[in-house]
Amino acid sequence: MMRNLALFFGSFLVGALSPAMAQDAPERWSIAIHGGAGTISPDRMTEDQRAEYEAALQEALDAGAAILAEGGSAMDAIQAAILPMEDSPLFNAGKGAVFTWEGANELDASIMDGRDRSAGAVTGVTTVKNPILLADKVRTDSPHVFLMGEGAETFAMEQGFEVTPPEYFATERRREALERMKADALSAMDVDHKFGTVGAVALDMDGNLAAGTSTGGMTGKRWGRIGDAPVIGAGTYADNRSCAVSATGWGEYFIRVGVAQEICTRLRIERESSRRETEWEASRASNESNPSNITFVHVNSVQLGAEVGQDIADEVMAEVAELGGDGGVILVTPEGHAIYSFNTTGMYRGRATSEGVNEVAIFGEGVVESDTPDH
Ligand code: ASP
Repeated sequence: MMRNLALFFGSFLVGALSPAMAQDAPERWSIAIHGGAGTISPDRMTEDQRAEYEAALQEALDAGAAILAEGGSAMDAIQAAILPMEDSPLFNAGKGAVFTWEGANELDASIMDGRDRSAGAVTGVTTVKNPILLADKVRTDSPHVFLMGEGAETFAMEQGFEVTPPEYFATERRREALERMKADALSAMDVDHKFGTVGAVALDMDGNLAAGTSTGGMTGKRWGRIGDAPVIGAGTYADNRSCAVSATGWGEYFIRVGVAQEICTRLRIERESSRRETEWEASRASNESNPSNITFVHVNSVQLGAEVGQDIADEVMAEVAELGGDGGVILVTPEGHAIYSFNTTGMYRGRATSEGVNEVAIFGEGVVESDTPDH
């Protein structure tokens, strides 16, 4: 069923069974970032900590937005946004990653280009400073999508990546969390309180979408556990026909729901059914007004409102919650709507658009309503 309120007419082509035209290149851009979701509330943070997180988020957002504003690609923008968060010890990605049960920092990342759905991912790397760059190298310079551990590191060296000493990633705060977990037989959720995975999604002025996610996983992970962040379709997905998504949360649940791809698929189906319904309505109206000349009105594209993406993201996050999982997602649509949805008390996040939106935020009451303007 078409979500009427959210429908905007795109370009029309009137005539008998006219071929679809190439989509008009939108002159807009949009980016959203996250630095993890979880039990994040004002009483758990000092003013200084809050300011530190907000500054780090703003730096990442600005780095991505600057590229898009100059006409750069969504792929470049998301990497520019993720790099400073991987380098910051505040987030659970790159430096500052959580520890495994054995006391190592094992890093995961994935990236996807909405133009051709090319994708790259790595898991369990310990010597690559910026795993998001390695994931992109897998995408562009290997015949594969997903590389693990030593193999991924051999590939990195062959591609000219510097070997970073594993100690670089270690921080006292994360080591202490592992020790507390072991000493008090706690779960990762008890010690972490929040997921610090980082991610970015973007739409560039050429209408291309991209998504990327980078993480250290969950504190005390064992037995080669892999979460959703490096799994294409779970933690990351991008398709120009639907949207770009990056997730953070309890990875097992995000894998089971296939969160990122599920959101994109629902949006793609929604868009196509809205287009067909609009085409049908327009043809009927045209023929009613001129019955002697039967015409087929071809609707090339429709524009969905921000609330369509918000509803779909909320629905999929509700499924995660029903299974017992928690976390959040960011998404950007081809219309440039930058949307958050999370079922935790907070999510480190930010968004900026060519329409003048520029914000970073931390706290929130469950699911956040998007205030991105409709185009
Ligand atoms: N999703 C990540 C994982 O399960 C954790 C996070 O978002 O921080 O590995």
